[in-house]
Amino acid sequence: MTVADVLATLDAWAPPGQKADFDRVGLQVGDPDAEVDRVLVALDLTPQVVDEAAGAGAQLIVTHHPLLFKPVGRVTADDPVGALAWRLGRAGISYIAIHTNLDAARGGVSFALAEQLGIEAPEILAPLHGVMRKVVVFAPRDAAGAVRRALAEAGAGEIGDYSGCSFSSDGTGRFRPERGASPHLGVPGEDAEVDEVRIEAVVPEWAVGAVRKSVAAAHPYEEPALDVYPLEGRATRQGYGAIGRLREPEPLAAFLARVRDALGAGALRYVGDDAQTVERVAVCGGAGLSFLPAALAAGADAYVTSDVTYHRFFEALDTEGRPRVALVDAGHYETEAITERLIADRLHAEHPGLRVDVTATRTSPMRTFSGA
Ligand SMILES: [Zn+2]
Repeated sequence: MTVADVLATLDAWAPPGQKADFDRVGLQVGDPDAEVDRVLVALDLTPQVVDEAAGAGAQLIVTHHPLLFKPVGRVTADDPVGALAWRLGRAGISYIAIHTNLDAARGGVSFALAEQLGIEAPEILAPLHGVMRKVVVFAPRDAAGAVRRALAEAGAGEIGDYSGCSFSSDGTGRFRPERGASPHLGVPGEDAEVDEVRIEAVVPEWAVGAVRKSVAAAHPYEEPALDVYPLEGRATRQGYGAIGRLREPEPLAAFLARVRDALGAGALRYVGDDAQTVERVAVCGGAGLSFLPAALAAGADAYVTSDVTYHRFFEALDTEGRPRVALVDAGHYETEAITERLIADRLHAEHPGLRVDVTATRTSPMRTFSGA
């Protein structure tokens, strides 16, 4: 197994095309052809994590937060980012980041967080916008089944809990193969008519390339007619955050204790009505304040995320200064630490022969102080 094989597994799970525009993911340091039999997973890349991987003989580190995030002009040992890249190179360790592409995946970071908090039947809180396309393929009738299968295999036609969704209509294709063509049907230099099926299915933009390839392999024509249209207003199955319900409504204090204990958070900062109960809960691992409007629109009783600054806590209040939702900042590391297990479990499930460990290091430099 190579670094590229592991990357392909991660890309199939959390396609890089669904990452945020500002983000950088994928192989950031190393050699795609290097052999791998041991992987270390961490939330953040730190010197201790690199040393741990080197000590254990791991050839690959996978983290959630990317090392190379802002553009770098040089890789030198005298700044914190360059020093880490240099340390990886010297140890011969490759390095992959899987960040907002995993945040946006169904079953990704926020789904794992929801499960950790006992939230049932989670759904995407804020679906990605503007990423859905309609792909239309014209195929002779006897090839229609193969083309529909090719579409489904490449990820087209997934709507809600349904897969393989498509629509077909019959029609007539007309063409004249020019001299030099080697047509599947018809004779060079003569007009031809053929019964064709128009097959259409939805597809997220990051799967369009795979759909083109898959259809080209299954389609009998030299040059299959394949059109791609943008779709307005169509929700995706991917997106940020998660929302679901607790089994039973509970008082806010009990909910806060649940969050603190489940996440091992030393302290929680929150805005909330201490007399309220909590049943419908939205979460977003990491810095998710931008999805507060989505949590409010979805009728959440509580929204658990992190990196909420003082002034932005006011956004949880109504015009009378009363909390509209319990907004809970449980800490960036605390809401995303589960990501380490999530990535390791996925790699292990896909490659049982690969040794995958979660770091023993708590990578967060932040601590909370509560005396004594
Ligand atoms: Zn994060």
